[in-house]
Amino acid sequence: MRSRDHYTPRVTHRSAASETWTTRRLLTWMGQTFAAKGLESPRLMAEMLMAHVLGCERLRLYMDVDRPASPLEREALRDLVARALKHEPVQYLVGEAWFYGLPFHVDPRVLIPRPSTESMVQEVLQHHRARHGAAGQDGRGVMIADVCTGSGCIAVALLKNLPEARAVATDLSTEALEVARRNAARHGVSERVEFLAGDLLTPVLAHAAAGKAGALDFLVSNPPYIPDDEWPHQVGRNVLDHEPHLALRGGADGLDHVRRLLNDGPALVKPGGLVLVEVATSRARAAASLASGAGLGHVRVVRDHEGLDRVIVGERA
Ligand code: GLN
Repeated sequence: MRSRDHYTPRVTHRSAASETWTTRRLLTWMGQTFAAKGLESPRLMAEMLMAHVLGCERLRLYMDVDRPASPLEREALRDLVARALKHEPVQYLVGEAWFYGLPFHVDPRVLIPRPSTESMVQEVLQHHRARHGAAGQDGRGVMIADVCTGSGCIAVALLKNLPEARAVATDLSTEALEVARRNAARHGVSERVEFLAGDLLTPVLAHAAAGKAGALDFLVSNPPYIPDDEWPHQVGRNVLDHEPHLALRGGADGLDHVRRLLNDGPALVKPGGLVLVEVATSRARAAASLASGAGLGHVRVVRDHEGLDRVIVGERA
């Protein structure tokens, strides 16, 4: 009896504690739930959702892992977990994606920025720095066109890193442009970028400054490029069920938009300037031939962070 008296309160105490939904317990529960469903990076996803609901940085979660969640926070998490289990990308759930070290607002109106696309930004910045001494590094006088801008991530990342450069950025989707404008404002570059609605280069060609022969230093584009033979079986459910198909499908061979860009694009670029287009890995060689055929010189294929052929780069002679 004595030992029981001694024992019981401890059990009660322990079970009460284990029923409290602390940060630690919620993270474990979410991580296990996501892992059981086969979702990618379950623990990271759990941390991102938790940090989003608590309104703090992800790493801060670990400074107070025994913090009990309020009923409202638990309800918000339950809702997000249910959506995640339907393969909704975590970036849409938290409304944010990181690209080139910068946070971008994202929602289902735009494609989520991919790390693969960062290699395009890097190429532009490297080329610019190699050609200009320290004096020219702010990008004064540099004009960029970003075609199919989506969230605006490429244009904004470039303008952030070239603080005197200017850009025009186009998209067929006016809804996407609303997101892109918001991201430009968020990063303080709105004054240096014009967002134009329209099909591929059409609005650039109609633009007084950017649409002239040789006006551009850089023409960059991450157009829709998934070929029909890779759709839908090579595309994840998170992409297929939630991201805008308009931003993804590139026609029978995935090069519909690439061909059109290479038709009209190079003439807009000044000698020594670059055309950079992201393409499907399976179509990189074909795209490189198209670029050479379009009169671009020094055509190369740049790999992405996974080592996959990803971006075609050509220089205007
Ligand atoms: N890389 C993207 C994907 O496979 C495709 C992006 C695009 O078509 N521009 O999800």
